[in-house]
Amino acid sequence: MVGLTPVEQRAPGQWQIGTVSGVKQETPRVKSFRIELPMWMPHLPGQHYDVRLTAPDGYRAQRSYSVASSPLDDGGVELTIDRLDDGEVSPYFHDVVVEGDQVELRGPFASYFVWRGEAPALLVGGGSGVVPLMAMLRHRRRATPELAMRLVYSVRSAEEVIYADELGDDTLLTFTRETPEGWAGHTGRIDSSLIAEMAADADIAFVCGSNAFVETAVGLLLEAGLRPSRIRTERFGPSG
Ligand SMILES: Cc1cc2nc3c(=O)[nH]c(=O)nc-3n(C[C@H](O)[C@H](O)[C@H](O)COP(=O)(O)OP(=O)(O)OC[C@H]3O[C@@H](n4cnc5c(N)ncnc54)[C@H](O)[C@@H]3O)c2cc1C
Repeated sequence: MVGLTPVEQRAPGQWQIGTVSGVKQETPRVKSFRIELPMWMPHLPGQHYDVRLTAPDGYRAQRSYSVASSPLDDGGVELTIDRLDDGEVSPYFHDVVVEGDQVELRGPFASYFVWRGEAPALLVGGGSGVVPLMAMLRHRRRATPELAMRLVYSVRSAEEVIYADELGDDTLLTFTRETPEGWAGHTGRIDSSLIAEMAADADIAFVCGSNAFVETAVGLLLEAGLRPSRIRTERFGPSG
């Protein structure tokens, strides 16, 4: 294991008011928000923040969002949010929040779904589950590019690819619903041959997505020979 940055696990900070300094439309229903934090502290790739909205009548809604940025981007975090039409918090971010707005956050949280420099690492993401994996990929590219890390990213169609302009040779995309014209790469859901090939040298795997996606991916990773203790999972399931 290699020391990446002087990032150590610490207790999460207190609630703080961050300022949105940039908004990027990633796909028709996904936006990334760069939020500057007055009490920023370095996070470990994979960790998340809690975001809290308070209505004028005092009603509060709180949700978790993974950090997409590397801790080397100091002073703030990037959160990437998928808009759920019938949701409470994600449509607020999409329809209301603009550059210069203030939002309340607390973090970073989690000690299990974090990448601490283990390699070779295989990242397996479905849909917006790619967000914490992107923090790992971005951080590894900048801090320790020599470490082996690959991303398998399952997405419905080309227009739903988040971070499209940043995906390189370290990423294998598979399209599950609509294949772009001229696409010669993988299509369909992740399957045993794809995961067996990608996991051949992997010492650790990080899986993130919906409950169903995570279940499938873990089954395939076990079949490919990874030990359960080397498979870390994060589920973006309904908040209930
Ligand atoms: C550790 C962690 C990290 C997360 N990171 C991210 C992230 O980086 N980006 C991101 O977009 N989301 C992330 N999520 C999910 C996020 O916390 C919210 O659950 C999501 O944004 C929905 O909130 P909402 O208020 O808009 O919808 P809600 O009002 O909570 O739900 C609206 C409806 O959608 C259903 N629902 C809720 N969540 C989901 C979901 N994830 N998928 C499908 N249906 C759902 C609910 O059952 C309900 O029917 C993360 C969740 C966890 C636990």
